[in-house]
Amino acid sequence: FLEVNGVNKYFGSLHVLKDCSFSVTKGQTVVLIGPSGSGKSTLLRCLNLLEPPSAGSIAFEGREITGDLRNAHKLRAQIGMVFQNFELFQHLNAVENIMLAPMKVLGYSRLDAHDLAVDLLHKVHIPDRADHLPDELSGGQQQRVAIARALAMKPKLMLYDEPTSALDPEMIREVLDVMTELSADGMTSVCVTHEMGFARRAADRIIFMERGSIIENATSEVFFSGEASDRAKQFLNQIL
Ligand code: ATP
Ligand code: MG
Repeated sequence: FLEVNGVNKYFGSLHVLKDCSFSVTKGQTVVLIGPSGSGKSTLLRCLNLLEPPSAGSIAFEGREITGDLRNAHKLRAQIGMVFQNFELFQHLNAVENIMLAPMKVLGYSRLDAHDLAVDLLHKVHIPDRADHLPDELSGGQQQRVAIARALAMKPKLMLYDEPTSALDPEMIREVLDVMTELSADGMTSVCVTHEMGFARRAADRIIFMERGSIIENATSEVFFSGEASDRAKQFLNQIL
């Protein structure tokens, strides 16, 4: 479904991704972990070509996507991305935030986009927040609107970059619960997160990165059963 092959990324002379290879099959949830600066966000951004890889290839649904960057916008319409800081449109309320892309990109009528947005607000458990502006919502609610907004494009793949790290502890759970439900429903996803409870519950595989390299790629059973590499265990001990 997603095949990453020997991806390298340089920022000037800085070698940020070193021969990264992994694959994600349809319906899988993969959690990407590693120390700060190890290249997790860069790798995630390569997957939807927000950052073009310097070398290597990525195939999405069997098609090579790294060859022709002119089609990157079409690819991004099929891949949802959720960021640490929500990045909602501040002047639009929850339902309008969700309606925008289906209307502009998918050609939905206002009415259809509204119906879709209302359905999605149910799905993320905040149907009663439809007409609230972002700054009238809690962080956890804003992030769930951001997830609903990504889902409105009917993505084939969801990318999350530390979606709960800007949230107060009591709000982390409600966002992780939505992500867990989506994974259980079969949404393919790659998540950068330090939430190991979520990783244990929802992830099929755990990828551990350090200094731009993938050090470990294991099923979550193997990873959490004490069979992880010493370096990965050391990292786990630091964050748990
Ligand atoms: P964190 O856990 O802190 O988010 P990360 O694992 O996501 O870290 P990246 O953000 O991918 O790490 O960064 C990897 C390296 O690439 C870092 O050394 C960073 O400074 C560098 N880097 C990232 N983006 C750029 C850029 N646009 N230009 C130059 N260097 C960059
Ligand atoms: Mg990052």
